[in-house]
Parts: sequence; C-alpha cells; structure tokens
Amino acid sequence: MKPFDRTLLETSVRNILIAIGDNPDREGLKETPARVASAYEEMFSSLHQKAFTESKVFNSSLANDGELVVVADIPFYSMCEHHLLPFFGSVSVGYMPKNGRIIGLSKIPRLVDYVAKKPNVQENLTSQIGLELQKLVDPQGVAVVVKARHMCTEMRGIKKANSHTLTSFFSGAFKNKDNRMEFLQEIKNQ
Ligand code: ZN
Repeated sequence: MKPFDRTLLETSVRNILIAIGDNPDREGLKETPARVASAYEEMFSSLHQKAFTESKVFNSSLANDGELVVVADIPFYSMCEHHLLPFFGSVSVGYMPKNGRIIGLSKIPRLVDYVAKKPNVQENLTSQIGLELQKLVDPQGVAVVVKARHMCTEMRGIKKANSHTLTSFFSGAFKNKDNRMEFLQEIKNQ
C-alpha cells in the first residue's frame, strides 16, 4: 500500500491546468492543486485502508434465517476509473441470514462507502459490495442493486442527463426467482 503522495498530486494537477491551456498562476487557480489534493485524499481514502475493518457481525437467536434483511437507497459517490469523473446514486442491499448471523445495520452504509472511495466502475462496485458482505456475514445469499448517474457520459452528451444505469448482484438464495422478486419488491416499497 503506497502512501498518499500530496506533492506529486499537486504537481500533476498543475500540469493538467497547463496542458489544457489555462494559466495555473492566475488568481482563481492558485489554490486549485492543493484543493484537488485534499478532495482526492478524501475521495480515494479506501486505497489506504487494508481491508474493511468496521464490520461487526454478531449472533442473534432472534434473527429468523428465512427472513430478508434489507437496507434500501443508501446514497453513494464514487469516481469512474475510466475518466476520473463522478458516478453516484443509491445502493440497495439485502441478505438472508444463516445460523442467526447478522451485521450491524449501520455497517452496511460504511461498507458501501469503503467500496465507493476509490476509482471504480459501477459493475465492480456492485459485485464488490456483494462479495464483501458474503465474506463478512456468510449468509444464505446476498442481493445488491445499484442505480447511478455517470458524469462521464452525461457531461459529454453520450447519455441524456438524468438517465440511470442499473446493475445488480445476486448470490446464493437470491439465485432463486421468488427470493429475488421479494427483495426487488421490498426495495420498491421502501
Ligand atoms: Zn467513465
């Protein structure tokens, strides 16, 4: 794991400004390399985290193994790894506990953040959330649906503004159509 190199990033941003034909020394741009460096340090903070460590999995004798646990519409912001432009939207996550094992509900939005805060593409973000949750909780199955807007297509006019891209991940019990439908119905109702 390499440390965050602020000096290199500031020099690089300055060079981008020169390369696009602007003057990095004009008033409005003077602080820009430093500002971008601070923003990137925060937006890509997961690159400096070894693994997702904030999970707390516990056993509940009350958790019904057949019941779905659903957290719908968790907002996320990420950067597309092809253009370094934002893509953002919402993530809905569901899982079906096995042997009463559950994860603290507040940990799921943190997991989403962890996966989002590095350069990524929506398809991989979706499956990384699913696989990570599968690994952490070892449930009967995991379902993830991500709905997002992509600035790299919208700003360049490739896609109409406000159009959404949907991706999904289904494992284990959610390969079963009835379970999948129940999850999709649940996130629609929330
Ligand atoms: Zn892109």
